[in-house]
Amino acid sequence: MISFNQVNKTYSGGFLALKNVSFNLAAGEMAFLTGHSGAGKSTLLKLISLMEKPSSGSIQINNTDLAKVGYKQVPFMRRKIGMIFQNHNLLMDRTVFDNVSLPLIIEGYSPKEIRKRVEAALEKVHLSDKQKCYPKMLSGGEQQRVGIARAVVNKPPILLADEPTGNLDPKLSLDIIRLFEEFNAVGTSVLIATHDLGLIARMKYRTLTLKSGTMITDGIVDGLTTDEAM
Ligand code: ADP
Repeated sequence: MISFNQVNKTYSGGFLALKNVSFNLAAGEMAFLTGHSGAGKSTLLKLISLMEKPSSGSIQINNTDLAKVGYKQVPFMRRKIGMIFQNHNLLMDRTVFDNVSLPLIIEGYSPKEIRKRVEAALEKVHLSDKQKCYPKMLSGGEQQRVGIARAVVNKPPILLADEPTGNLDPKLSLDIIRLFEEFNAVGTSVLIATHDLGLIARMKYRTLTLKSGTMITDGIVDGLTTDEAM
């Protein structure tokens, strides 16, 4: 599903953010991506979502080599990927319904289809009763769930999350990860970037660890081992 082969990323200015990174994430797999701030987690996610290009090496998504994706095809590739951010990037002057419907409006779905899909997405994140609310009327955990509903509303096969629990307490963080598990259980591939080692240790999922741009571990590790590694 996602395949990195000896990927390097040097930003303009010469900073080497990823060094010789190789890994595969199979269809239907769920994994964590961890490492200290500045280790290269966001860079790796941006390469998958075609927001940045590798300096060398190759990346394949669903057997498509990203180097061969022309700029006109970029929106089509991005539709396969749902992105979730730490600060959820919601439009504060729009209702929950409007926020979640945005990707479908951009794709030109009919109002009837939009209503059906938005209601289904909000049901999946347990927010059916909040459709008409504005984000500021919701708790931090609920706002993050709206962000997740927006990411899944067009049913992408891949979900990428960048520090999705960064602003949440441990109980709410676990709720968010459980939601990812529900999407993973129906076949969605999930990659979650987080530096929350406590959360990772509790979940026992495959964990890719970056240190200064190098992938130093890949496997199921306990929190202590990961901490020592970093
Ligand atoms: P993380 O998500 O693990 O905190 P990032 O991928 O955001 O790490 O950053 C990795 C390194 O690349 C950092 O040192 C950061 O300063 C640098 N970096 C990130 N984006 C850019 C950019 N657009 N231009 C130059 N350097 C960048």
